[in-house]
Amino acid sequence: MRIDTDALIIGSGAAGLTAALAARSEGLETLIVEKTEKIGGTTAYSGGVMWIPNNHLMEQAGIEDSTLRAMDYLRSTVGNRVSEERLLSFVENAPKMLKKLTEEGYLEAEIFEGFPDYRAEVKGGVLGGRSVEPKVFSGRKLGEVFGSMRARKFSSPVVGTMTELRRLAVIKTNFLGALKSWKVFARAIFGKLFGSEYVSSGRALTAWLTFSAKKIGVGFKLNHRLIELIENDGAVVGARVENHEGVPIDIFARNGVVLACGGFEHNTAMRAKYLGNHAAVDRSSGSEGNEGDAITSAKAIGAALDLMEDAWWAPTFMVPDVGPQIVIFERGKPGQIVVDQRGNRFANEAQPYNDFVKAMFDSLVVDDEMTSCFMVFDQNFRDRYPLATMMPGITPEKHLKSGFVRRGNSVEELAKTIGIEPANLLSTVERFNVMAVSGKDEDFGRGDFAFDRFSGDEIAKPNSCLAPLNRAPFYAIEMFAGDLGTKGGLLTDKSARVINQEGKPIAGLYAVGNCSASAMGHFYPGAGGTIGPAMTFGFIAGMHVAKKHA
Ligand SMILES: Cc1cc2nc3c(=O)[nH]c(=O)nc-3n(C[C@H](O)[C@H](O)[C@H](O)COP(=O)(O)OP(=O)(O)OC[C@H]3O[C@@H](n4cnc5c(N)ncnc54)[C@H](O)[C@@H]3O)c2cc1C
Repeated sequence: MRIDTDALIIGSGAAGLTAALAARSEGLETLIVEKTEKIGGTTAYSGGVMWIPNNHLMEQAGIEDSTLRAMDYLRSTVGNRVSEERLLSFVENAPKMLKKLTEEGYLEAEIFEGFPDYRAEVKGGVLGGRSVEPKVFSGRKLGEVFGSMRARKFSSPVVGTMTELRRLAVIKTNFLGALKSWKVFARAIFGKLFGSEYVSSGRALTAWLTFSAKKIGVGFKLNHRLIELIENDGAVVGARVENHEGVPIDIFARNGVVLACGGFEHNTAMRAKYLGNHAAVDRSSGSEGNEGDAITSAKAIGAALDLMEDAWWAPTFMVPDVGPQIVIFERGKPGQIVVDQRGNRFANEAQPYNDFVKAMFDSLVVDDEMTSCFMVFDQNFRDRYPLATMMPGITPEKHLKSGFVRRGNSVEELAKTIGIEPANLLSTVERFNVMAVSGKDEDFGRGDFAFDRFSGDEIAKPNSCLAPLNRAPFYAIEMFAGDLGTKGGLLTDKSARVINQEGKPIAGLYAVGNCSASAMGHFYPGAGGTIGPAMTFGFIAGMHVAKKHA
């Protein structure tokens, strides 16, 4: 069977949807093929936050930024791991992409209030404004397509933007602040009364983009999987896909093929080959369909790969019946520490999640085996903050019974339940408690950085990330090195074209999002640091594909 189109986009996450919107809005007949039965990929599981330096919402809010400043930040963090022209292409096009999507009404977005860059302290960093999030979307607008949108296994009953949810996370200690998120409650009531099916975060982002793509005539084929690329005279002219019955279909794309199929996080063999044995596949929060198909098929025609040994790492709890749950802001909250198997702290718990897992790799590998660590906290912490699908103060019996949450009436008793030498854990907690009261973490500097404090709770004085663990009972949850997806893949140029092993672009072939080697190198610049570049290079690819018409 044969199909012809102008632009063929493989994969329906943020990268693919943005590429499709750009190509279609330039007048191209555009088709998205998606391997699974659901639209959205990992993007749908995500916070939906986009890192867009120098964006127009910052300008409207009076927050200063510039191309130069963003380049300073990326030069001092990504360094020369990524070419200058690719970094510049990102920095120049990211604001254009966001402006285009919002001006066309394809997406409504706002600043994630007060979110600092992950290394706000280095040259070019900012204390807020670059992280942007989608506004809540009413799924009802999607009609029957809503049923085809990917959703997480565990979805919170609370629908709100990340800004709103962050305020609600401290409702027990800052009730008035939390009231600013009143719309969350209004939405819950309105949604129930009128069946609005509100969605937020990553689900909102994919819903906005899918709704807009459908509206302007992008075609979708779900349950269609890329098998291989079709070449003619050194150029890619299409792709062979297979439908769910295994029937092969050759799709010819007059203008180009954009690979947007996510990373290889669910391919056990590729993980073993490239990531080693330090992070298990079942601890990945990435979308099930992401098995490195784009990387395999483009490598087969000579594409170059880069950064294959890296991933978007995140410390992870394994919640029974739910699966991996990443642990983000909780590590900055006062009243908890993270210890290794001997009961010692080993890092600043509050640091950005990608960096925290790198610290886990540095500290927790014993005899070439990756070990786990434990978050240890007291009753005050449990009463105050939500944690791993649990509401503040409510620790379900099933979690205690399954051993997911361990509890002890004293620190020593808790230590025994997790196999740690009691005297050692006690001495760690006692030392931490002294530092918490003084407000200075002499060991790891927790609370010294803007991002730490953003995760903390102002109720804790003098350091918003520190409070002693002093109210029994005490708790522990085992924490593992997990990931949000991989970040290595096809090497691309400033126009998102795939580069071959001779360093030349492969005509007709583009790669964006997690199937391409990240333009952020080994760095994670700020909240939205994966989706921002994925959408930006999606936009660049979509526009570039369209140029073939000119
Ligand atoms: C809990 C969580 C929270 C996160 N929060 C954020 C955040 O707020 N901001 C941020 O920047 N990042 C966040 N991330 C990471 C981010 O979601 C991903 O890095 C990003 O969404 C990847 O986008 P993508 O378009 O490259 O891939 P995906 O969104 O994964 O889409 C890839 C699509 O391609 C499809 N596909 C795979 N193989 C084939 C094939 N052979 N043929 C056809 N289709 C195929 C897949 O099924 C999938 O639908 C988060 C991740 C998680 C898990």
